[in-house]
Amino acid sequence: MAEKSMERIVSLCKRRGFIFPGSDIYGGLGSTYDYGPLGVLLKNNVRNAWWKAVVQKRDDVVGLDSAILMHPRTWEASGHLQGFTDPLVDCKSCRKRFRADHLLEARSAEMKGLKEEPVDMRDVRCPACGGELTDIRQFNLMFKTFMGPVEEDANTVYLRPETAQGIFVNFNLVRESSRMKVPFGIAQVGKAFRNEITPGNFTFRTREFEQMELEYFVKPGTDEESFEGWKAFMMEFFTGLGGKADNFRYYEHPKEDLSHYSKRTVDLEYLFPWGWSELWGCANRTDFDLKRHGEFSGQDLSYLNQETGERYVPYVIEPSLGLDRATLAFLVDAYDEIDGGRTTTTESAKEEETVLRLHPSLAPIKAAILPLSKKEPLLGMAREIYGKLSDRWFVQYDQSGSVGRRYRRQDEIGTPFCVTVDFETPDDGKVTVRERDTMAQERVPIVDLEGYLAGRLGC
Ligand SMILES: [Zn+2]
Repeated sequence: MAEKSMERIVSLCKRRGFIFPGSDIYGGLGSTYDYGPLGVLLKNNVRNAWWKAVVQKRDDVVGLDSAILMHPRTWEASGHLQGFTDPLVDCKSCRKRFRADHLLEARSAEMKGLKEEPVDMRDVRCPACGGELTDIRQFNLMFKTFMGPVEEDANTVYLRPETAQGIFVNFNLVRESSRMKVPFGIAQVGKAFRNEITPGNFTFRTREFEQMELEYFVKPGTDEESFEGWKAFMMEFFTGLGGKADNFRYYEHPKEDLSHYSKRTVDLEYLFPWGWSELWGCANRTDFDLKRHGEFSGQDLSYLNQETGERYVPYVIEPSLGLDRATLAFLVDAYDEIDGGRTTTTESAKEEETVLRLHPSLAPIKAAILPLSKKEPLLGMAREIYGKLSDRWFVQYDQSGSVGRRYRRQDEIGTPFCVTVDFETPDDGKVTVRERDTMAQERVPIVDLEGYLAGRLGC
């Protein structure tokens, strides 16, 4: 297989309607992306797979959908107002803005072996024009806006930089209304916003993104065991949905690099075309968040074990996954290019062929219905099959072009099955079902088609 290139994956995403650059007709808006007709289906499927594994299939986890705008005290308590910053410098000549820590790292790498003493920020010049840089300023990554008609400091609110805090502030309400006992978890999927200075790598790092977060509350002392369980879960989730195990690995954050609230953090990393990058972070946040919100709100967020009479502030294990990142990882992992193609139909034989080998439950379109003729009775029969199957799944109807071309269009978007209505169908009541990865074909009676597909799709 040809080496996976981001450029080609991005191009497929735009051409086939998975992901478009945001505000494209106005020349785009820095690192925003829009999910097209197929992208929204894929993203929904990834979200649903996560929700099913984390919430639906577990009786110790419940769901939540909290507001994006939260009381500003939330961000004082969480530490975001104070500490959620990046160190920035500006170039005095070309006005470009940089992360000071990134410039220092780059400069230190350059000077390695040449100079003994550590690099000082005063020795660093603008990488774009060589100009002089300003002093470092701390830049808060939260998007700020105003609530109500008056734009004044008292009305400042923030777009949440993570969904987690919505879970912590609802801890008592959820626990009481659902009669949950520790250990239990609260899961939430939703948009979060970070005013990143250097977004990049397509949808990997964007300023607006969707998170899938679980806060799993445990008794202190049982936190390390629970952590191990969720760490293993992260890997199983991806490989269980067809992810290639070799493309995933764990990264243990060194103690000295941990966030102020974290006792331990392990990332699940994915081998993207640009290198290993964080996909899913699992953090042991201890009792930091509940304690802080307890202090700032004046509410008691401790937990009483009714059976033993013990009272404590639970520790929390947080596996936090970006939905956009997860979707991108599945796309990259499934992407396959075959030089020269694998089909032998004359008109398309020598072209390069792209197959998106998505897990059937993630594939946006589950089956395509292809009549070999645009005339009756094939057309009517094909439309009828489409009507029946679309009751249950997203399916496509396609009658244009050679059947080889139509197969390729479906392979490229990851459709697991193509159903061909051919000239024998009116006589024997059977259709030809062709599988995407093996290209194996089988004649299946129309009356059995739905069951046949359901068994193979598993959804
Ligand atoms: Zn400059």
